[in-house]
Amino acid sequence: MADIELQAVEKHFDGVAALRSVTASIQDGEFVALLGPSGCGKSTLLRVLAGFEAPTRGQIRIGAREVANAETGQAIPPEARNIGFVFQSYALWPHMSVRRNVSYPLEVRGLTKVARVARTDAALAATGLMPFADRMPADLSGGQRQRVALARCLVSDPAAVLLDEPLANLDVALRSSMQAVFSDFHTRTGATMVYVTHDQAEAMAMADRIAVMSDGEIVQFDTPEKLYNQPDNLFVASFVGEGTVLPIEAVTIGQVGMEAQVLGSRIAITSQDENPNLICLRPENISICETSDLRAQVVRATYLGGTYRLDLQTNSGAMVVAHARQRHAEGTQLGLSISNPWAFTEV
Ligand code: ATP
Repeated sequence: MADIELQAVEKHFDGVAALRSVTASIQDGEFVALLGPSGCGKSTLLRVLAGFEAPTRGQIRIGAREVANAETGQAIPPEARNIGFVFQSYALWPHMSVRRNVSYPLEVRGLTKVARVARTDAALAATGLMPFADRMPADLSGGQRQRVALARCLVSDPAAVLLDEPLANLDVALRSSMQAVFSDFHTRTGATMVYVTHDQAEAMAMADRIAVMSDGEIVQFDTPEKLYNQPDNLFVASFVGEGTVLPIEAVTIGQVGMEAQVLGSRIAITSQDENPNLICLRPENISICETSDLRAQVVRATYLGGTYRLDLQTNSGAMVVAHARQRHAEGTQLGLSISNPWAFTEV
């Protein structure tokens, strides 16, 4: 297994930057998700790591080896990087059985039959594919095919596994059960994994850390909890967890700590900055409090099963989201209390 180091990596296509100076360290055995909107550079970053594309600038190291260096021209080809790939399209050989698909990389490497059978059996067992070993890919479900792709990675004992939206073709129920398969695979192998997705729930459920990307850059690289609770910037605050970002009118230090004037009310805030100018409001920060001066009107109430999501418009026109145990009809006026939101500085 291996750690991965990206140093000021850029990738330009015909002069247009798909990656702008990406610097990041991924630890040995870490499960990292690359998350961001369409076109932000996730797949390009993965392809540069894999060796399918050469960086325009910068260096990449995987384990002890420098695999790409735009300045010296160093470029180790994908097949020599000891990396496993799992694609959305599975990329299985349709004319080979499950067992043969899994053992084929070992045949190419010239392992003996005894060694091939032992490693293939172990990989099939680890991915729950033993009962399907003699089937052809066409006779498998999407989830089973993706397991074959994982088993094929596993036999090769790669230094790292790169996954490009591997669950995008599967239905919602299967996606969540496959998340458990990927997490098990990670625990079992201890492989360093880099997983591209635009689905935040998927990234949050599986990754140790998430690199949030926007416009060719990593804008925050943190644990899922930190991204949600303590976003560094406006993009992450609004993109992750659909946060509502509101301006702070003034910051003061009160008896209980930092306070901010927001929407005409004084509220306690948490921040690591001295003079933050924005707050990130999550539904957890908002409760209904009839005695409050901060008033809002229910624009929409959506039942989520157990709770209602309330889309609310405050008297000053700001839209916020709260969760409530009971339904409040559209148009109802409610009082809101805001507790301790995260505040940050955006220049
Ligand atoms: P998606 O989630 O839609 O797959 P992404 O975040 O993976 O998007 P990339 O595929 O990395 O985004 O693309 C980043 C930018 O680079 C886009 O503007 C894209 O059009 C551009 N790009 C990617 N590959 C090429 C290429 N081979 N030639 C020219 N431009 C490219």
